[in-house]
This record gives sequence, structure tokens and C-alpha cells, in this order.
Amino acid sequence: MSGAAETVRLFFALWPGADLQARLATWAKQAAGRGRAMRRENIHLTLAFLGDTAASLVPELIALAAGVRFVSIRLPLDRIGYWKHNRIIWCGAEQDPPALSALVSELRARLDSGGIVYDRKPFVSHVTLVRNAAGLPAAPAWVPLVWEAADFVLVGSTRVEGRVTYQVTKRFPAAAG
Ligand code: ATP
Ligand code: MG
Repeated sequence: MSGAAETVRLFFALWPGADLQARLATWAKQAAGRGRAMRRENIHLTLAFLGDTAASLVPELIALAAGVRFVSIRLPLDRIGYWKHNRIIWCGAEQDPPALSALVSELRARLDSGGIVYDRKPFVSHVTLVRNAAGLPAAPAWVPLVWEAADFVLVGSTRVEGRVTYQVTKRFPAAAG
């Protein structure tokens, strides 16, 4: 009998549709230089990072997240940024729409109510595009996009042959209207 409980590495995120992922990935490839562009299918925006979590908690997590009431989010991706401390190039909104801030607060409040452990660093919305970058590229120029997010997701993160792989476990749709 094994003593160690099974764990999964989890986070909640907004997941772009394939078209938006493709556009972001194309820009990232062109901008990467010696950095590492995010692979198309991995591009996302993290809402709350749980990290290693007992697999037995997943049904409870799904129930908690399913109770989050939120409306669709229209997120302008109108700025590009570079963070020295972690060497990433990211895109995001000049100003978060209230619907996004509300979703994050509501989700985190529900996780709190369930005693779920997650990273409590304040939410700073961004979509990572390039890792291990030296700075912003001279080109290509950033062309602002708008992301219409009608759901959020619970994602499992694993490493397969040295590559990080994300698996969307469950989708939580926005309230209609
Ligand atoms: P790897 O760590 O294997 O290079 P990764 O960072 O893409 O790959 P994870 O570490 O599983 O994969 O992270 C999943 C998502 O959660 C990423 O968006 C990552 O930036 C974010 N994340 C990871 N750790 C934290 C943390 N401590 N706090 C907030 N967000 C985090
Ligand atoms: Mg990581």
C-alpha cells in the first residue's frame, strides 16, 4: 500500500480559443529572439494557482468553481510588457475590465471558503508569450487584440518528456446575458 496520496498540479485560468492562441503564438515566435516562445496550445491567463493538490479534492474544487457567478469578459490585449525578474514577455490589458477583477475575487473567495490552498500573491493579469527573454523585441510591433472570454477553466499541469503540458479538466461557463 502506498503511503503518499496522489497529487495533481492545478490552476484556474482563462483559456483563449484556438484562433486567438494562434495569433498570439505567431507574434511570440517572431518576438522570441533567443527566448522561448510559448507553444500555441499552452497560451493562457492564470486566475489562481493551486499547485500540487490532493487528487481527491478535485470534485470539491469543481463544485466550488461551479458556484462562481460571473459574466463574460471582454479583455483588451492592448499592452505588451517585459518583466526583468522572471524574464517574460507578456501581453495584457492597460486596465483590467471590472468583470475580470470580479471573477478573480469571487473565485478566490470561494476557494477560501472551501479551505483550498492557492498562491495568494495579488492577481496581476497577464498572458505569458515568451520565456527567458532578454527584453522587448524591436519588432514585430504589437497589434492590440480583444479577447472575449465566456468561460474559465480548471487545468492540470504535467511534464511529459521534459515538456510542460496543460490539460483542461473542466470548463465553467459565464452566466447568460
Ligand atoms: P514550468 O514551471 O514547468 O516551466 P509553467 O510555469 O508553464 O511551466 P506551471 O508551473 O504548472 O507551468 O504553472 C502553470 C501556470 O501557473 C503558469 O501560468 C504559471 O505562470 C502560473 N504559476 C506557476 N506558479 C505560480 C505561483 N506560485 N503563483 C502564481 N502563478 C503561478
Ligand atoms: Mg512554473
